[in-house]
Amino acid sequence: MSDAVLEVRDLVVAVGAREILHGVSLRVDAGRAVAIMGPNGSGKSTLVRALFGRPGYEQRAGAIVLGGKDVSAEPTFERARRGMSLIEQDPIEIPGVRPATVAAEALAGRGLDPKGAVGLLEREADEVALDRSLLERWYNVELSGGERKKLETAMAALVPGLVVVGDEIDSGLDVDALRVVARRLDALRRSGRGLLLVTHYPRLLRALQPDAVVVLVEGRIVDTGAMDLAERIEREGYRPYGVADEG
Ligand code: ADP
Ligand code: MG
Repeated sequence: MSDAVLEVRDLVVAVGAREILHGVSLRVDAGRAVAIMGPNGSGKSTLVRALFGRPGYEQRAGAIVLGGKDVSAEPTFERARRGMSLIEQDPIEIPGVRPATVAAEALAGRGLDPKGAVGLLEREADEVALDRSLLERWYNVELSGGERKKLETAMAALVPGLVVVGDEIDSGLDVDALRVVARRLDALRRSGRGLLLVTHYPRLLRALQPDAVVVLVEGRIVDTGAMDLAERIEREGYRPYGVADEG
């Protein structure tokens, strides 16, 4: 009926006793990019973490429907296996584990031949202008912020999937790196992947031209529009939504 790859319905999420998301609904269609903007502390990262079932982020109500299946009760690895990839805001270091090992596990977990991992990873590294020599290091260890985002992008692109979720991809990326990552994400979109991109600057969005922009304030979606909405937020901030300017 629909070609939604990800649908979030009336999602209520709490951290400890405190409710952070108060009923968030959105959908990402195949081959479309949805941007989520919002001031600091509005719940953007909470939404991303809840989508991936991160422990500590309790889904109290609503549904997370991935490729037509409600994955709310599924563990993180199962959501990943079903087609959700994450480009983290602060990608974690995994000392002792090489990127090629992560890639091989990611392929094997999806029933694909892990033997091709090194070649695929090298090709994906080239796509985002990540020096192949960095693949010899432990995962994300001694990589710059920008290099980590590139490695995460390469990993997301390497496995087949339905939707790539990125949290503040633009933080830590210089202009050239941003362009390269945006180009790779755009190619994924054109190949049919959905994109859900959290940002509070329009930088990445200018390079990527999202199909929809939603605004999250205090755990609620308060506006929906297109790229001109992102540009207006850049000019006017979040005051139109009753949010005070930050210092
Ligand atoms: P954003 O990404 O939009 O800046 P967050 O989702 O990080 O916002 O945070 C929303 C609110 O939830 C903040 O008040 C934050 O302190 C709180 N929060 C998020 N994660 C945690 C956590 N693990 N422990 C305690 N509070 C959290
Ligand atoms: Mg955040």
